[in-house]
Amino acid sequence: MTIEAIQNVLVVGAGTMGNGIAHTFAQYGFRTTIVDVNTEILERAISTIAANLDRQVKKGVVKEDEKNATLARISISTCLEEVCSTAHFVVEAAIESMQLKQQLFRTIDEHCPPEVILATNTSSISITEIATSTARPDKVIGMHFFNPVPVMKLCEIIRGLATTDEVYTITRELALRLGKTPVEVQDYPGFISNRILMPMINEAVYCVMENVASVEDIDTVMKLGMNHPMGPLTLADFIGLDTCLAIMNVLHEGLGDPKYRPCPLLKKMVAAGYLGRKSGRGFYSYT
Ligand code: NAD
Repeated sequence: MTIEAIQNVLVVGAGTMGNGIAHTFAQYGFRTTIVDVNTEILERAISTIAANLDRQVKKGVVKEDEKNATLARISISTCLEEVCSTAHFVVEAAIESMQLKQQLFRTIDEHCPPEVILATNTSSISITEIATSTARPDKVIGMHFFNPVPVMKLCEIIRGLATTDEVYTITRELALRLGKTPVEVQDYPGFISNRILMPMINEAVYCVMENVASVEDIDTVMKLGMNHPMGPLTLADFIGLDTCLAIMNVLHEGLGDPKYRPCPLLKKMVAAGYLGRKSGRGFYSYT
């Protein structure tokens, strides 16, 4: 497989990340197919992409005719098996479950031509472990985009234990062609982004639990003192406290160091259903 041979991209999962990834590939000229479990989700993804393209047109980032061409390059399907045979590159962005990802990779591997690279957008699951469900672990790689994908420049390219240099080089080049800044990461829990971000958020939650300061003041210190665009507790509410807890558990289990233990207050809030923005309540209230 060469980079020039990649023209058809298959995106599996049409949620927050899947629609952003499909939008970006299509915007940069790739024929893009999105697969999800039902048509309603897929149609919602297309509406989201159209609305986000409208915003880009208003900002002058994209021209009106580019918007139409981008939308014309996107197709949708609910049948993964059917669309694999014409794919030249696959990015999986379904929900964060090892069991589901392994099942999807098994199907994708069975139906895609053998030279096709299979990437996953997982934020915490081991690339090496996902790769074991395929007959091509050398062609499985992490391509970790950030939300919102059309805007955020970073892409962590994660090499599984078996990923070849050639597969890494092609994936990196692809990220560059999407206007992203790729960084090379080895497959360890949390990669770079969550390995550093989540312990910071977890420590901020400890500060709340130990009454070091108020939620607002903790965020103010990190915003004004460290120039972060938003405080760690505001960010935790954005990401979802359940997601933060799940990633801390991955770090704790995968690295085996007690410094990654999730804060008891974080666990308690998740148990109570205080998940952040999506549930209307986290460290802040969103009613
Ligand atoms: P999401 O819940 O918004 O979307 C997941 C989509 O997967 C849903 O539309 C769901 O219907 C679909 N799906 C479930 N089973 C499927 C199947 N069998 N076949 C096809 N599609 C299926 O989740 P998201 O936030 O878009 O996250 C997707 C992936 O990206 C996860 O692995 C997550 O860890 C990772 N990620 C998320 C973010 C973020 O900020 N949300 C950032 C980076 C990476």
